[in-house]
Amino acid sequence: MKSYRCRVCSSPLYFENSICVACGAGLGYSREEREIVPVGLDGRYVDSSGLIWHVCRNLNLSGCTWLAPLEGGQCFSCSLTRTRPNDADVAGVSNFPVAERAKRHLIAELDDLGFPVVGKDAAIGGDPAGGLCFDLLSSTDRSVTIGHEDGVITIDLAESDPAYRERLRGELDEPYRTMLGHFRHEVGHYYQWRLVEVAGDPERIARARELFGDETVDYQDAIDRHYSHGAPAGWERSYLTTYATMHPYEDFAETWAHFLHICDTIQTATEYGLTAVAGIDAFSHFRDLVTGVWVPMSIALNMINRSMGKDDLYPFVIPAPVLDKLEFVASLRGDGRA
Ligand SMILES: [Zn+2]
Ligand SMILES: [Zn+2]
Ligand SMILES: [Zn+2]
Repeated sequence: MKSYRCRVCSSPLYFENSICVACGAGLGYSREEREIVPVGLDGRYVDSSGLIWHVCRNLNLSGCTWLAPLEGGQCFSCSLTRTRPNDADVAGVSNFPVAERAKRHLIAELDDLGFPVVGKDAAIGGDPAGGLCFDLLSSTDRSVTIGHEDGVITIDLAESDPAYRERLRGELDEPYRTMLGHFRHEVGHYYQWRLVEVAGDPERIARARELFGDETVDYQDAIDRHYSHGAPAGWERSYLTTYATMHPYEDFAETWAHFLHICDTIQTATEYGLTAVAGIDAFSHFRDLVTGVWVPMSIALNMINRSMGKDDLYPFVIPAPVLDKLEFVASLRGDGRA
């Protein structure tokens, strides 16, 4: 994540700030400028071309700090949410801000990396068939399966609750489970669909099969096998997680999520002066960034967490074949073929 400063008083800001705690200025995130900008008492920001932007109408509902093009309207990130809990669903409404916050973080990173982010709502320039949207559902009264299908990403808002999420993490024997991680994984399925399958470049499809396996194998069979037999012995020599062994789609999505974890964390470290590396584009091959920068950095970050009595920040080991998979995901950047 970039480091931001208040344009009024130069104090450092968190991405989520709606007010500068140092000078009291109102703030909003301009997706167009990729900057946090000051907002007047009237909730407006006038950009350099004279366009007027407004505080998103969901500021109080979900803590959204992004700017919207219309007064009383919603921002781009909020416009991607197709379904949200209704006002009577108290648990769902209270979990909603955690998911929206993770989604804004995700979109800011995708923008930064140059991946196209297109919604489904044609009325605001979206693509109903190939665009992306989110159903943020509450599993308090029905079962919700986190997943992706045809550009619709479903998220279970119960996962906003740390106690619930931690219980599931233990049951599934996972080293890491976060709301941001869910968004990153699921959007990986979306980009595989758009940038590999729909884009239809035969060379790219062949390379994806070589790395991740034949994605046409039956998905339900793969799930049944995974949950009855578990991951194959020696999985850690070729995969990041046991979940990635289930099906080529899951391997891609796990790799994609780690690509985003790595890019974001290195960028943050660079922005705050914790590393001398000049950002994620310092190397022409992503694998060199992983072995030369990320592996030593993640060990250091794990040690820092241990110094504070916390669990490891990055509880994973990256085996050699995963470097090739990460290189493939990195090669999809800024492609625009979606
Ligand atoms: Zn300030
Ligand atoms: Zn918003
Ligand atoms: Zn998945």
